[in-house]
Amino acid sequence: MVDLHSHTDESDGSTPPEQLVAMAADTGLTALAITDHDTFAGYEKAKPAAMRAGFDLVRGIELNSKHQGRVVHILGYFLNGDPAPELQRWLNHVLEARRERNRRMIDRLRGLGVDITLEEVEALGRTLTGRPHFAKVLLSKGYVDNREDAFRKYIGEDAIGYVERETVPTAEAIERLHNAGGVASLAHPIRLGIRDAEAEERFIAGLRDSGLTAIEVYHSDHRPADVQRYLGIAEKYGFRVTGGSDFHGDNKPGVQLGKARVPDSVLAGLRRQ
Ligand code: AMP
Ligand code: ZN
Ligand code: FE
Ligand code: FE
Repeated sequence: MVDLHSHTDESDGSTPPEQLVAMAADTGLTALAITDHDTFAGYEKAKPAAMRAGFDLVRGIELNSKHQGRVVHILGYFLNGDPAPELQRWLNHVLEARRERNRRMIDRLRGLGVDITLEEVEALGRTLTGRPHFAKVLLSKGYVDNREDAFRKYIGEDAIGYVERETVPTAEAIERLHNAGGVASLAHPIRLGIRDAEAEERFIAGLRDSGLTAIEVYHSDHRPADVQRYLGIAEKYGFRVTGGSDFHGDNKPGVQLGKARVPDSVLAGLRRQ
């Protein structure tokens, strides 16, 4: 089994990169892709440990984008060498835009009388600071009783402290990954939230025109019937297949590493082309 979708504490996971590699090996996985949001920092940190252990670690990333008004997460995999430097330059810009957004969220929360600073939040966030880190500070200071509460009352999309962050068009995210030498895959299609199967298929097929070449068929949120449906779509439109648990450690209890039960042949198939 392999797991091609996981997050470390360099983005919004709770597990340090080196520890994640050890966990993957202990779990009996033959390969792991680290796909942190907007950063390769977790992969870079984990790489030496993986090399020492002779463990197959794949460099990945997850980007947020928008297509026809929907939020679309795109996974990128670098199976043949390192990404072109242009991608890292663009990621630095994305991280800076995020930081600017975090500043605005701090201003809003402080305006509401919440005692919170950017320094406090960034101290938890390492490379990428986001709302999960805001939630931790709100919790530790007693403003909320749990993480869900923090999103409901303060930082969720419909809450008073929320500030939207810039997202790129899906076609641009895909193009940037391709130009850097990566494979782009549609992450967890179930989360597009398109209930009607025909409409969902049309949307996914339409992403082919935006350059998409793969879809994440296996995912913790996919029931067996979903996996079958996405396998069918992949076959019909010639998409390559990816899959992974979307492990976030304690930040997403209930999702264990390897949960999506992705066969080794999926990674072998990706590498073959
Ligand atoms: P950001 O990228 O800073 O907008 O934060 C998005 C992250 O916040 C997601 O990847 C989730 O990990 C987390 N998140 C978003 N909404 C919720 C929610 N309602 N409850 C718990 N975590 C959430
Ligand atoms: Zn995440
Ligand atoms: Fe995602
Ligand atoms: Fe993810």
